[in-house]
Amino acid sequence: MNEFVETILSLQWQDPKPTYDVVIVGGGGHGLSAAYHLAARHGITNVAVLEANYIGSGNSGRNTTIIRSNYGIPESVRFYQHSVDLYNQLETETGCWIMHATKGLMWLVHTETGMRAERARSLVNTACGTETVMISPEEAKALCPQLDLSGGGRYPVRGGSYHPGGATARHDRVVWAYAQGAMQRGVHVHQHTPVIDLLRDGDRVTGVMTPNGPISAGMVMSAVGGKVTQLAAMAGVRLPVRTHPLQAFVTNGYAQGLGPIVSSTELLTYVSQTARGQLLMGAEFEPQPTYSMQTSFQTLANVSSKVAYLLPFTRNLRVLRQWTGICDVSADFSPIMGGTGVDGFCITTGWGTWGFKAIPASGEQMAQYIATGDTPPLIAPFALSRFAADHPMADQGSTGTR
Ligand SMILES: Cc1cc2nc3c(=O)[nH]c(=O)nc-3n(C[C@H](O)[C@H](O)[C@H](O)COP(=O)(O)OP(=O)(O)OC[C@H]3O[C@@H](n4cnc5c(N)ncnc54)[C@H](O)[C@@H]3O)c2cc1C
Repeated sequence: MNEFVETILSLQWQDPKPTYDVVIVGGGGHGLSAAYHLAARHGITNVAVLEANYIGSGNSGRNTTIIRSNYGIPESVRFYQHSVDLYNQLETETGCWIMHATKGLMWLVHTETGMRAERARSLVNTACGTETVMISPEEAKALCPQLDLSGGGRYPVRGGSYHPGGATARHDRVVWAYAQGAMQRGVHVHQHTPVIDLLRDGDRVTGVMTPNGPISAGMVMSAVGGKVTQLAAMAGVRLPVRTHPLQAFVTNGYAQGLGPIVSSTELLTYVSQTARGQLLMGAEFEPQPTYSMQTSFQTLANVSSKVAYLLPFTRNLRVLRQWTGICDVSADFSPIMGGTGVDGFCITTGWGTWGFKAIPASGEQMAQYIATGDTPPLIAPFALSRFAADHPMADQGSTGTR
């Protein structure tokens, strides 16, 4: 627990019961948001969240906290815009200060092909109610005076798109805000409780097995991040998901002054400034699927050098910390939410490198699915069945910086 959790939150821990209406496996943002919304919106409180480690120990506590809705296909733009809207009111709703800050997000491009992609994005965004405008190099410089428009002579900035709604929020505060909201309404959260198997009665999932014994459930929801193919396999579900590592790092503190989040869609890097002044830098996921959480000097050198071409002042900063998370990347780079075809077992996955921003909307929509048995229209396009129907939701705008 950090000082925020210890001093500001009030959490009630309970002993596990043998039976719950809903068991959510995985105490990351998605699991806890679903638990919160089940309790807050539907009055379903006989719910347990089982977390193998401590809550927020997965990618929900490891990400670079970027919130945006400038996606590439209408279904995604609508879904993520709804999540951005929910984030905008999350402090009021939960009464927790999650350090939400709207900063704007600049996606810089260096080629004419990149400009065409951004023009298409901005048109799709505008048509779906999200503000994304094209900017010239001079407008980019006005938004971020630290930019070297020549890209160090190597990556000249031709322009880009600007998404004023781009924001950040403190990741673990989001997780704990949902945990507190859920627990205050009667949800049980059990940390250090891994699910080691699923209980089945014929084809139906009827509960989970933990090292302390079985727990039965009317519905089991998987929200286990990068471990999803392992858990789904216990229910006999094969997912079009691979687990890829994603690295990030922060520098030492620097005087506040980097306004927007700066990203290059072609260099596959992005940088924002934290409330402490540190420069937080991220990249694209590693191409080799693995559960390894090792970091590499290669990624550090690659990302920091590219950022330094665009923002030369970063050359004088020092790297403080570097870390990795393992990401559930779906075959079409879009999430998978809803039923699995197995009774009693539903799923929220495919959050890859982009799921922090989706935590409010995914939890809200999954709670509605569990409470009503009907798939809400906002997430219907992201059903697992789309793959069998050969109707992927391919969205390049989902991946890392792309
Ligand atoms: C470096 C990095 C940067 C990122 N940057 C961004 C960003 O800027 N913006 C953005 O939108 N997204 C970003 N993401 C992605 C985002 O962090 C994730 O998509 C999101 O946090 C996923 O949340 P989750 O709840 O699904 O998974 P997690 O937060 O990973 O939670 C899953 C939980 O399940 C638990 N678990 C696993 N197996 C079991 C089991 N058998 N039993 C019980 N518990 C289990 C794990 O311990 C874990 O706590 C980034 C990710 C990384 C790694």
